[in-house]
Amino acid sequence: MDCIFCNIVAGKIPSDIVYQDEEVIAFHDINPQSPVHMLVIPRKHFTSLNDLTDKEKPLMGRIIATANRLAKEEGIAESGYRLVINCGRQGGQLVPHLHLHIMGGRQLSGQLG
Ligand code: AMP
Ligand code: ZN
Repeated sequence: MDCIFCNIVAGKIPSDIVYQDEEVIAFHDINPQSPVHMLVIPRKHFTSLNDLTDKEKPLMGRIIATANRLAKEEGIAESGYRLVINCGRQGGQLVPHLHLHIMGGRQLSGQLG
């Protein structure tokens, strides 16, 4: 298995885990773009948003709820933060395992792309 995030789920690659349950794991981004930068991923491998079906609606709800909880724990809920899911090449997705970025702790640009 050569998916880096599957290897993090399997514990084969170290990561700074901040939350985990039976369906998702969250950890600090290794190359943070803001003072707070974490990733929430499903344990199950989905290459991108394009792989999701209606069956995964509860999973995506859980991923967003996890981000909400972590934003509060990291103290950025009130100051504000951004959730990003990049999809595919032109969307800027570099790691082909679905993940949600949580970014905050500084003023983020109002521009998208
Ligand atoms: P994306 O461009 O949306 O695919 O984002 C991938 C993110 O994964 C980037 O922000 C990377 O810094 C991050 N990343 C890559 N490898 C690791 C790792 N081993 N541990 C934590 N974050 C990682
Ligand atoms: Zn994977």
